[in-house]
Amino acid sequence: MTKRVVLIGHPVAHSLSGAMQQAAFDAQGIDATYELWDRAPIQLVDSIGELRGDDFLGANVTIPHKERVVPLVDRLTEEAHATGAVNTITKEGKRLVGHNTDVPGFKVALDKLVGRQKMPRQAVLLGAGGGARAVVYGLITEGFQRIIVFNRHLHRAEGMVRHFSRTAAHMELRAMPWHESIIEAELAKAKVLVNATSIGLTRDESPIPADVIPPEMLVLDLIYSKTRLLRDAAASGATTMDGELMLLHQGAAAFTLWTGQPAPLELMQEKLAEARAAGVRSAEGEPTGEPVA
Ligand code: NDP
Repeated sequence: MTKRVVLIGHPVAHSLSGAMQQAAFDAQGIDATYELWDRAPIQLVDSIGELRGDDFLGANVTIPHKERVVPLVDRLTEEAHATGAVNTITKEGKRLVGHNTDVPGFKVALDKLVGRQKMPRQAVLLGAGGGARAVVYGLITEGFQRIIVFNRHLHRAEGMVRHFSRTAAHMELRAMPWHESIIEAELAKAKVLVNATSIGLTRDESPIPADVIPPEMLVLDLIYSKTRLLRDAAASGATTMDGELMLLHQGAAAFTLWTGQPAPLELMQEKLAEARAAGVRSAEGEPTGEPVA
């Protein structure tokens, strides 16, 4: 029987995951299809219930469902529990297990960005959505001692900080109001800057002015293109990385969870590059807008 893996999101039309996962199944001789399910929140409970059928290997979950899925699965891994977000579902018989492979994906990207330097201890994070949660947990488990979170809606950042209060009890995790002067002051004290907002995804704009980025900064943008933030940071002398490696490795981790096999990383990277060259820039299906110049 051909097995099925589905990506559940709303929308999912522009999925980069589809391109890389189907190619990986085919290359490894796994008789499985990767389907895109555009499901509104009201359809989510039924869609998750369907996965209990024998033909399903599992699923990916994306915007806007990553947090809503948490109470709908039977078991959560440590990462899913800690972040309060699920991006991958596997099966144990008819039982559903929720994972968060954005966390290992982020850690691979961070390690590569840091390179041979000592892992820094202070970070500034822009954003407080699902992606930001994976970043916070990844930074905490990498041993960061101070993480300052800025978000357009401060209450959401405060909620995220509260969510991690136990995990972060030994270190400083704080939400601060989005004011340029405060961001500048915090950047001066930090070594790593992560953008987990979607600013720069659909328009060529940066969340922060170019002149507040210190030259020795390590800057990671979760968006998979050379965003204005990354271009500004590189111009000021900073070391930069976009979100492609994180996307690739969250996908590779999911592939291994579904199939028990190592993921064909090179092929998946090739497929991602092809999809990007064809103009797809969003992770799973967020509106892509006009191409960034
Ligand atoms: P969410 O919708 O959960 O969060 C979006 C975030 O962006 C929030 O912090 C939101 O702030 C902020 N934001 C959106 N629009 C604006 C705006 N106009 N001005 C200021 N802030 C804004 O999305 P995700 O966390 O899932 O994704 C965020 C980004 O990260 C996306 O670009 C996504 O593609 C990328 N991503 C990449 C991954 C990868 O593997 N590389 C994995 C996951 C995400 P507020 O709360 O105030 O609305």
